[in-house]
Amino acid sequence: MDVNIYNMEITLQKLVDEILPGYRNFVFHDPKVEAVAKERLKLCVECEHLNHFVRSKKWGKKCSVCGCPVLVKIRSMDSKCPKDKW
Ligand code: SF4
Repeated sequence: MDVNIYNMEITLQKLVDEILPGYRNFVFHDPKVEAVAKERLKLCVECEHLNHFVRSKKWGKKCSVCGCPVLVKIRSMDSKCPKDKW
């Protein structure tokens, strides 16, 4: 089953396993998660696959390979970079 988020088709499994935990960690900060997210973000901001879409500057970045919102993906501890950058 696909779910439409930010005009992207995302599987329900991916939503449950990766995106929702990432949102939880975005809202409820854990210092260990934030340390990992900071290192991941350094790689994402340099990545050619980081795309922007019209929403807001804060939420407007997504990975064009997997379609995930990057600020959420980097906080999902079970997520992996689809290009093996982290
Ligand atoms: S998750 Fe990987 S491929 Fe996607 S923007 Fe970040 S570094 Fe690039």
